[in-house]
Order: sequence, then structure tokens, then C-alpha cells
Amino acid sequence: MSCKFPNLQMFRNNVLFNFKFSRMRPYLILLIILFQFACKDTPPQKKEEPISSINDSIPAKLEQLDTIKAVAPRTITYDYDTLQWLDLADVEKGIQIDMRYATTNNFVNEQMYECGRCFLRPEVARAVAEAHHHLKKQGYGLKMLDCFRPRPIQQKLWDKVPNPSYVTPPKKGSMHNRGLAVDLTLVDVAGNQIDMGTPFDFFGKEAHHTYTGFSKEILDHRKLLKQTMKLYGFKHIRTEWWHYSYTKGKHELSDYLWECDH
Ligand SMILES: [Zn+2]
Repeated sequence: MSCKFPNLQMFRNNVLFNFKFSRMRPYLILLIILFQFACKDTPPQKKEEPISSINDSIPAKLEQLDTIKAVAPRTITYDYDTLQWLDLADVEKGIQIDMRYATTNNFVNEQMYECGRCFLRPEVARAVAEAHHHLKKQGYGLKMLDCFRPRPIQQKLWDKVPNPSYVTPPKKGSMHNRGLAVDLTLVDVAGNQIDMGTPFDFFGKEAHHTYTGFSKEILDHRKLLKQTMKLYGFKHIRTEWWHYSYTKGKHELSDYLWECDH
């Protein structure tokens, strides 16, 4: 930016001007000097960074990048023995988990688990995840209703309902107590539960695989679940459309109780 001022020489012949100008002259000169000083272009002060300083900073910046890279991958901290168990949520996050025995929405109307985590033996968890991926291609998904059931919880259930028609005696133990069984249903692509004819834990002939009194759509959905689970190594039982046991593994009954503050 620059400021230009009129050439005062052109006023020299004007007497009145000369008179006033002579009195004001010192002030005007001072004002012009101050004004010119204020309007003088002042290029921005660019602080040159010495080349050596830039070079010196490169290793430090690379080191910072290395630190970011090292921290970036999310590391899962397992609060259980991964040789024995897998929490299904650590294997496949897309599967819905609705552990009914962690709520009062079950056939004993009482919360049996402290919290709802779906634990399974590692190979079983992986097989369930594969079945879910298979269903996903057809616009469906899985929702877990029960998974591994610790033996102390089986005892609690037995104490409440000591009837082998509904609850397996704890001494005998069930596939759930081994981490080899799942209770599950289908959901649609939006995550809505599919109508399978009866609720979970419905004890009656309508829950049997052989029951044919429902619509073709319901029967087809039961068939889809059964065929998919079979494809990934699970066997159905005649009386419960929701129950599947893994056939390719052997594990002991377990008292393991999972952590809830994870
Ligand atoms: Zn079951």
C-alpha cells in the first residue's frame, strides 16, 4: 500500500494560502511525516526457519507418526480365557444379543444372569458367526436368546422348576452347560425379529419342528434357520425350534461365571 499527497508546489502563488501555510507549516510537515510513516508499505516479516532446524525436526515428526501408528490399531483386551471361551460380541458384532436369562423376560420371570454376555466355546462362536454371514446374504441375521449357561445358574433354574420336562437336572448337565448349545432366532435386514410361530421357551407342540399348523412364511423361516444351522455343524432338537447344539466339539460341563464390569 502507498499513499500519495498533492504536490504543494502548485499552491505557492496563492497569497492567502502562503499566509496560512506559513503559520501551519511546522504542524503540516509533522503531520505529513507521521502520515507517510503510517502508510509506508511494511512487508510481512517472514521468519526464515533455518534449513538445519527443518531437517532436525523431521526425525522427531517421524517418531510422532510411529507413535500414532503404534497406538492406532484397537487392541481388544479379553477378560476371559480365549482358549476356553469366546464372547460372541468379540467375534461378530452384527449378531444381536438378547440374553433372556439376564432379564425377567423368560419362562421363570426372574433374572438369572448378572449380565447378558453370550459366551460359547471358540469353535462354536465361530460357527455361529459363519451362519450369521450366510443368512446375511439372504437378508437375514441372527439374534441370540441364550448361549453358555453356567452350571450354578442351571442349579438355580432347577431349584425354581425341578421338572426335567422343562429344565435339565444340573447333575446331568445340558449342552448349554458345556458351551456347545445356542438358543437363537432370525431377524430381518432391519434387525426386526422374525415371527417363528411361538415365543422362545414356549413349551407346547406348536414349538415342535414337526408342527405344520402355521403359515408357509413361518414354516419357511423355521426351515431356513434349521438348514443354515445344519450347514455349520449344528443339530436341532425336535421340540424347540430355537435350540441348536454343536456336533463337532466335546467340552466338559463348566461352572465358569463371566465378568460383568468389562
Ligand atoms: Zn437351548
